[in-house]
Amino acid sequence: MTLKSINPYTGKVIQEFETFSDTEINEALENSVEAFDEWIRTTFEYRKKLMLKVADLLKESNSLLAQTITKEMGKTKAEATAEIEKCVWVCEHYAENAESMLHREAVATDAHMAFVQFEPLGTILGVMPWNFPFWQVFRFAAPTLMAGNVIVLKHASNVQISARAIQGIFEKAGFPSGVFQNLVIGSEKVKDIVEHKAVKAISLTGSEQAGAEVAQLAGKNIKKTVLELGGNNSFIVLEDAEIDKAVEIGLKARMQNAGQSCIAAKRFIVHKNISEEFIEKFRKAINKLSFGDPFNMQSDIGPLSSKKQAEVVTQQVRKSVEMGAKVIAGDMPEGALYPPTLVIGVKPGMPLFEEEVFGPVAPIIIAQDTEEAIYLSNLSNYGLGVSLFTNNLEKAEELIPEFEDGAVFVNALVKSHPRLPFGGTKQSGYGRELALNGIREFVNVKTVYID
Ligand code: NAP
Repeated sequence: MTLKSINPYTGKVIQEFETFSDTEINEALENSVEAFDEWIRTTFEYRKKLMLKVADLLKESNSLLAQTITKEMGKTKAEATAEIEKCVWVCEHYAENAESMLHREAVATDAHMAFVQFEPLGTILGVMPWNFPFWQVFRFAAPTLMAGNVIVLKHASNVQISARAIQGIFEKAGFPSGVFQNLVIGSEKVKDIVEHKAVKAISLTGSEQAGAEVAQLAGKNIKKTVLELGGNNSFIVLEDAEIDKAVEIGLKARMQNAGQSCIAAKRFIVHKNISEEFIEKFRKAINKLSFGDPFNMQSDIGPLSSKKQAEVVTQQVRKSVEMGAKVIAGDMPEGALYPPTLVIGVKPGMPLFEEEVFGPVAPIIIAQDTEEAIYLSNLSNYGLGVSLFTNNLEKAEELIPEFEDGAVFVNALVKSHPRLPFGGTKQSGYGRELALNGIREFVNVKTVYID
């Protein structure tokens, strides 16, 4: 079997990869066990040196790596460059802070001495998506490796050039053989790997379906999972919000990565009293966006990851229009190129409200008041994050407990930050990445009691 990397802008196959045989998969898993035996004995200082080297290599080859991302999945070169910069950030963050984050914690008890120490688990499987082909991997890998675990990666089938480049960076930085291994496999091989005795836990970022299947299997084998799944974030604009700022940030929150981000603003819930002004300003801003060749520095938006993905989005819009919504900016896609689109009159029950839309489509939903805005926001089966725009910060703080999501960003777009935990509730998954919470997901929290 082969995996193909296809340039979504040209539709041309860039490279094909022969998948691993079962023997090669087994060898890789055995190598990871041997590698762990050594890696667990290394000091934080040593791991830090290697992780900082990874950061340096990412910085040095940013332009080349960004080019790979743009060719392979279509985001603009500027966005790909920023993605690599963010990977540098997360590597440096955990290189500098892992030791203190995992430092043993003394606890006062009736014992002579009691403490908690954090120890690595072993081989962790990472199942990752294509939409941020470097960032998703580094967000998982930097804390996991710094904690003393080793990694086998199953990256998305369509971004194997990126996957290979990432493995190359860890090797070049001096990580011992077997500590980070990319498995060139399709998703049908994940089952055997989850069940393999070498694998101690799994981190999956991807669709609900993939998450549910992997978690079910992992549960059967009593293995821990962290799931970062889809999102249908609301972007709420209250009556007293600063409209121009909400338009500017809303545009970015919806259109970045051509709308293919789990934390993108996917439902604009706007108070009725300011809806006309918001819609008109948003429409003007959308019409100014340019889309096309992702290597053209003038392009704000590149193609979607595939023509098939553009067809999925087209269907979601078409069905919503049949149910009463109205497109007021945007057009039909050409191949994988999907124009930035604005849709009004969106209501619960329509695909643009209920489903995760992975494309540059902004649906507007009108709320009668703040209570209804919160109600509509929580109606989603997903729970990744919410953006709330208001000038009343005191009121905003009061409203925070009303939201069922993993994050609330006030007057800002939902984004990930190495110092802040990241993850969702409901169908968006469970567990957290980044921050202290992220590095403590794949460790044995060992209680020590000495009398
Ligand atoms: P996907 O189809 O679920 O793929 C993600 C990864 O899972 C790929 O490596 C894929 O391999 C693998 N996979 C797919 N089906 C599987 C199965 N049944 N068993 C085991 N592995 C399986 O998702 P996607 O369409 O590439 O990515 C988009 C989704 O990811 C969106 O829903 C998005 O919201 C979500 N996402 C979430 C976050 C977050 O942090 N919460 C971040 C980014 C993306 P193949 O490529 O070989 O199929």
